[in-house]
Amino acid sequence: MAQETIFSKIIRQEIPATLLYQDELVTAFPDIAPKAKVHILIVPNKQIATANDIQTEDEVVIGRMYRVAKQLAKEQGIDESGYRLIMNCNEHGGQEVYHIHLHLVGGEPLGPMLTVK
Ligand code: 5GP
Repeated sequence: MAQETIFSKIIRQEIPATLLYQDELVTAFPDIAPKAKVHILIVPNKQIATANDIQTEDEVVIGRMYRVAKQLAKEQGIDESGYRLIMNCNEHGGQEVYHIHLHLVGGEPLGPMLTVK
């Protein structure tokens, strides 16, 4: 198994973080360095290092991540104005933490989807 990251400690509440949601499969908490007015991370409780490591057996947890993301978007009042769900993968994708997570970002216009170069 890939080496544990800070996210496992947050999930187990061994380090402080405001949990916005937690169930038997996923946990959500605010990003420590928000890129928009709303920036929440939705992570599987089980460590999966990158999108490349998602297995068939993970389909339920991946689906739960999206279901919880839309629930949090509604709770944050951004479901109608809109938001973006992002999962970065590896170096070119800009992944910093090797425990997959969905970024839920919104609360203001987000501009173009990507800027390359
Ligand atoms: P990535 O670049 O891997 O897609 O995104 C990692 C995200 O995790 C970044 O947006 C970063 O701000 C956030 N992050 C890194 N360390 C911590 C932490 O200790 N606590 C929280 N809440 N977010 C973190």
